[in-house]
Order: sequence, then C-alpha cells, then structure tokens
Amino acid sequence: MPTQANVGDFLEIHWPNRKKGSYLSISNTNATWLNHQTAFVGVAARPSVTIVGRTSYTHGGLFRSPREIFFTGIVKVDIPSLSKSSLLRLPASVRTRLSNFSEADADAEFARLKKITTPVHGSFNFHECWHRPLHDIRVTSGFASPRTPPGGQPYYHTGIDLHAPMRTPVLAAADGQVVYKGESPLTGNIIILNHGGGIYSEYMHLSKFDVAAGAQVKRGETIGLSGATGRVEAPHLHWELSWQGIPLNPIRFLQASAQTCDQE
Ligand SMILES: [Zn+2]
Repeated sequence: MPTQANVGDFLEIHWPNRKKGSYLSISNTNATWLNHQTAFVGVAARPSVTIVGRTSYTHGGLFRSPREIFFTGIVKVDIPSLSKSSLLRLPASVRTRLSNFSEADADAEFARLKKITTPVHGSFNFHECWHRPLHDIRVTSGFASPRTPPGGQPYYHTGIDLHAPMRTPVLAAADGQVVYKGESPLTGNIIILNHGGGIYSEYMHLSKFDVAAGAQVKRGETIGLSGATGRVEAPHLHWELSWQGIPLNPIRFLQASAQTCDQE
C-alpha cells in the first residue's frame, strides 16, 4: 500500500483473485467498486484513509506486484496549509466585472456546480485511455494550491491551470456527454462533461463553445476555445476533474489512466 497520498489522489485497488472470504474496508473516505475486481477511492481533505482487507491484490500505480496478504494500510494525506495561500492578482477589468459578485455568490456558484457533478449517471469506462485537454499541457498552477481572492477567504484550487494563449483548442479528455454549458463571473464560459461512474471533467474560462448542451462528445474532440472569461489573472484553461463531487488531481488521474487503460 502507498503510505502517503495527497488530497485529490485517485487510488485504485485491483483484486484479480477475489475469493470467498476476502474483504476490503475503506474508512474515512468514499469508495466505490468500478467493477467486480477494482475499487476506486477518491482522497478528500481528510488526514488519513485506512484500508483493511484480506485478498491477493495489486495496487495500481505505486505498487504493481500481486500479493496474497492480510493487510492494513494507512494512507496519510498531505493537506497544504491555507496560511501559505497566494493572493490572486486580478486585472482591473476583471475586478470591475466581479464588483457585484460577493463571496457568498462564489460559494453559491461552487455549490451549484458541485450539485451537477455529484450524481452517478452511467458507468465509467475504466479501459479508456484519457486524452490531455490541450494538445500541449503546461501546468501554471497546481492542484490544491492554496490561494486567496482579493477581499476574500483562502481556498484550495480544485483543478489545475494550464498555459493556453487565447483561442487554443480545448479537447474533451474522454468520451462523455455535455451535461452543462453556461457562464458565471467566477468560471467564465464553462463546459462540464459526464464520463459515467460519478466522474466529471470541467473546462473553464473559454472564449467560445463548440458543442451543444446534451451533446455526446468523443475523446480528443474540440469542445471550445480557451479564453480569459471569469475570475482570471490572464488567459488560461482551468481544468478540473471530480468523482462524486470530490475533486481529483487531474495529472495523477491521467497518469493512473495511462497505467491501467487498454492501449489502442
Ligand atoms: Zn484554476
């Protein structure tokens, strides 16, 4: 078992030989079975996750070798301190745009989006290899980095910011359905895709939409163009992934997918 995890990590536990008498219990977090052999654990902002079980297992990512074992694993979760948050440097035009948008409005907007991205509709295709949301990705602000908006309270970045000059094509990271297309002073123009199993991806601050609400999209398809709408310091793509409302670290998710998907 890995002993250290970060908020937003995506742990997969594979049970290739699940037998009668085998069991797995996971405390302090949400977990679900993706299929009869694979459990899927999202790590939220809690200090530790305890995994207890008896089986032969392999652990995706950090541990790949099969073991026949009774195990107790405690995964400690690193939570960055909010006191180390950096102040968002918003241009004057963005501050003007946000002048009537209060902290309570921002909380309400986050809650509204979370409601869209929490239900489990359809099943997740564990075999699909995920695509990057841009042809080239360069992270300019990492997952869970603490930050403070001007005049507001510190919070954790729930996605990653990717370098994207204006009007860079934004790609669907996996097959999915457009479950939300809209705009707000916070997110700017935003698209949310449902990938089944409680997994959703979000693409924010777009300058243009290229898909309709309700549309089925294919992995790698252009769904819009990047921009600087919403609460932004400069043009970029904010990309977010969540599972049942728990934000996941998108980079770790891409790595996990690359290790476990069926390469075409
Ligand atoms: Zn961001």
